[in-house]
Amino acid sequence: MSAARLLILGGTAEARALAQALTDADVPVVSSLAGRVARPRLPVGEVRIGGFGGPGALARWLGDQDIGAVIDATHPFAERISASAVAATADAGVPLLRLERPGWEASGEDRWHWVDDLPAAATAIRELGARRVLLTSGRQGLAAFAQDDVTWFLIRCVDPPDVALPARHEVLLDRGPYTLEGELALIDAHDIQLIVTKDSGGPLTEAKLAAARARGLPVVVVRRPPRQDVPTVRTVDEAVAWATTVASRAA
Ligand code: NAP
Repeated sequence: MSAARLLILGGTAEARALAQALTDADVPVVSSLAGRVARPRLPVGEVRIGGFGGPGALARWLGDQDIGAVIDATHPFAERISASAVAATADAGVPLLRLERPGWEASGEDRWHWVDDLPAAATAIRELGARRVLLTSGRQGLAAFAQDDVTWFLIRCVDPPDVALPARHEVLLDRGPYTLEGELALIDAHDIQLIVTKDSGGPLTEAKLAAARARGLPVVVVRRPPRQDVPTVRTVDEAVAWATTVASRAA
């Protein structure tokens, strides 16, 4: 991979940290973002924005751009781009690593209810009898809650939602990182009875879990989707070690 660049599939804090660490280690990188967020936090170095057009197009792009390795550092719930990366790197004969932060783990006092997807989260809210819910599962998938005209939702997301929303709601545009104090104030100000979250993992958005624990609130946690079997690391340091080994092998 002497002159070849490494592609980081990004959109996460880890992907930005990885771009910085590899740039510092003189490994040339290009970061790719989906373009979902209006004002994304940009990584250092070269950045491209927008979908590739599916796995075949990504495979061609890898060849055209002389990409020597790919690190998929996308969000744990971004399923399609990860599947695309697996197919495209196999097709192009380019090594692939998955960088995925660990999921969250409940502690003794937590009242977590695990569900498989957002429709199941909508069902769980009704079963648990909560009437005022903080919804932190992101802008995509909000349609799963649109039929609930009983519950009041505080919908927190980065950009304004563009799908049907439940009858009773307020939208709060925010992107974190969040603090325990801030989350407690939000819960108290809106008389929140339950929180819905994806198992995103990581420190930037975990304060809501500590806040729920402190207030004794139930949390509906959406499980991560299943993934294909790909070499995977949990930390940026491990991903840097892999990238520098791949780069030195190819030099
Ligand atoms: P997705 O369902 O896996 O991807 C949908 C399509 O968007 C992909 O097929 C691909 O288009 C394009 N795409 C996604 N990530 C891309 C990237 N890094 N670079 C270039 N194209 C990309 O993903 P998603 O759930 O919509 O998430 C989009 C982005 O937001 C991801 O990069 C992810 O890291 C970030 N993110 C997602 C979540 C979440 O909860 N899902 C949360 C925080 C951040 P083509 O097929 O045309 O190539």
